[in-house]
Amino acid sequence: MRPVIALVGRPNVGKSTLFNQLTRSRDALVADFPGLTRDRKYGEGRSGDRDFIVIDTGGLTGDEHGIDAPMANQSMAAMEEADVILLLVDAREGLNSADELMVEALRRRGKAFHLVVNKLDGLDASVATGDFYRLGVSHLHGIAASQGRGVRALIDEVLSQV
Ligand code: GDP
Ligand code: MG
Repeated sequence: MRPVIALVGRPNVGKSTLFNQLTRSRDALVADFPGLTRDRKYGEGRSGDRDFIVIDTGGLTGDEHGIDAPMANQSMAAMEEADVILLLVDAREGLNSADELMVEALRRRGKAFHLVVNKLDGLDASVATGDFYRLGVSHLHGIAASQGRGVRALIDEVLSQV
């Protein structure tokens, strides 16, 4: 079975950019995945000899209320389908309370997730990721999705754990 990787996070953190990087060489959207809906985009990726499915989500609007707010709607559904979740955050904005809520919610669900600090291009990586270590997550990766930087290392580590 191909592992299923869901990309979640606030709008504009770079989920679709990472999705495109991960699926670029395949150039094929999955059309027949169970539960396929228009709200989420499914793609095929490959790293070395490992195939995987990646799900892009539209992002969390912040309009919802309550502790589960950031997990709402299609992001929630994508996470249910996933073997592993990549929670993207924006290094240029720093740690955001919505990011913290998402981390809490993921922890409570006990689902495997990796924190991906994106947009590190032009930043000092250790300074830019430092803020996010306060979340205490066990898997933290820095990338620059728009340049493909760190993407291969990220996906290989994720795949090594599913
Ligand atoms: P999404 O809403 O989470 O899907 O975010 P997008 O992938 O649409 O990206 C939002 C914006 O961030 C776009 O203008 C991207 O070009 C930009 N972006 C994405 N990744 C990076 C990155 O690694 N570095 C920089 N500087 N910008 C990025
Ligand atoms: Mg998007």
